[in-house]
Amino acid sequence: MPSTSNFIDVATIWLHAGKGGDGAVSFHREKFVAAGGPDGGDGGRGGNIVFQADPNLSTLMDFRYKRKYTAPDGENGRGARQKGKDADDLVIRVPRGTVLKEAETGLVVADLSGDAPVVVAKGGRGGWGNARFATPTRQIPRFAKPGLPGEDMHLTLELKVIADVGLIGFPNVGKSTLISTISAARPKIANYHFTTLTPVLGVVRVGPEQSFVCADIPGLIEGAADGVGLGHDFLRHVERCRLLLHVVDVSGCEGRDPKEDFEQINHELEGFSADLATRPQIVLGNKCDIATPEQVEEFKQFVEAKGLTFVPISAATRQGVDALPALVYSRLKELPPVKVFEAEYVKPSLVDALTRPFTVERTGAHEFTVDAPWLERILAGTNVEDYESLQYFQTQLGDSGILDELVRQNVEEDDTIKIGEYEFDYVY
Ligand code: GDP
Ligand code: MG
Repeated sequence: MPSTSNFIDVATIWLHAGKGGDGAVSFHREKFVAAGGPDGGDGGRGGNIVFQADPNLSTLMDFRYKRKYTAPDGENGRGARQKGKDADDLVIRVPRGTVLKEAETGLVVADLSGDAPVVVAKGGRGGWGNARFATPTRQIPRFAKPGLPGEDMHLTLELKVIADVGLIGFPNVGKSTLISTISAARPKIANYHFTTLTPVLGVVRVGPEQSFVCADIPGLIEGAADGVGLGHDFLRHVERCRLLLHVVDVSGCEGRDPKEDFEQINHELEGFSADLATRPQIVLGNKCDIATPEQVEEFKQFVEAKGLTFVPISAATRQGVDALPALVYSRLKELPPVKVFEAEYVKPSLVDALTRPFTVERTGAHEFTVDAPWLERILAGTNVEDYESLQYFQTQLGDSGILDELVRQNVEEDDTIKIGEYEFDYVY
């Protein structure tokens, strides 16, 4: 296992779930029975696209090369009420800890931190065969419904390697030096600001079986939480850390006050996320080798008055450093597991199903334009050449209140009604 790696990995992909199979138009035929009843079967469901966390994967590399994922379509229905077969789901394996976001909005669709598979794009329902449309008044239904299209999604995949512990603190306080002494990670160390441009991970061994992952978060600066400087991007990396090691230069060798530094970094965290600001912290007073005992004591009092643990160390001379991994490990054991992101994204089709929103606008002397995406989907599943099929569609127009709205806006006979790509004449 490499001791260091890039912290974040991002990919963008497109998903196309399978279309439902079409319903069949078919009539029962038997010897000596002149005209049998309708017996066309339903189409099968289109394939879903399902995500599954795989502990054997560690990068999103594959998604750089293959970006389009299409699930198979459902099988069409057949005569004798035979239903078409449902399509198999397409299962996409991703490294554990991958977060799926809707690409345009950035809203979380799913967090693949657990073992449970997640259905992200649903296959379309199969269309009803004409056997379904036989009613006492419609003895010979000549229409069946085509299958509905599967859901399309445009996703951003983000993999944040899950670090248990994040090192935070001002630039030059000794974060990189510390991680290089407690793990095999070898970040650049220098006494100028922003030495670390890429976050670095180190595996810290505590015993033969015990270890934790520590992330060196590059220097935060004032204003980082408002998007100034480098800090903002890097703060995203600590979102999942369970424990923060807040490194402070107690010697004040760069002419700064350790107490002010400590408050300012916490202020940055708060500005970025209230959640992050409440993450447990252990405060490490670094550079004790060049600090006076009074400086160390004063800062210790300050930290302990806040109810926090204070550990005086010197990353350079290793003073107090060897006992650190065991202390951190025992603290981690008391803490809840890594944060899992809640889904935020609501599929438009679900919102529509609840509200069936529409707008009707007069777009000409004898022309109205109806904007109702949900209705366009129904229209896509309607055979407009078929009288009965069209009637079925018109029922939807009536039920949703669109016809009422047209009348309210003084629609007249033969006015053109535009719905998506379709145009109708208004006839009553
Ligand atoms: P970072 O920006 O927080 O990652 O800080 P670095 O680890 O790059 O350290 C900045 C400077 O402080 C380097 O010159 C280090 O050698 C020095 N330094 C780090 N830890 C100690 C320490 O415990 N004592 C002393 N005297 N210098 C240190
Ligand atoms: Mg550094």
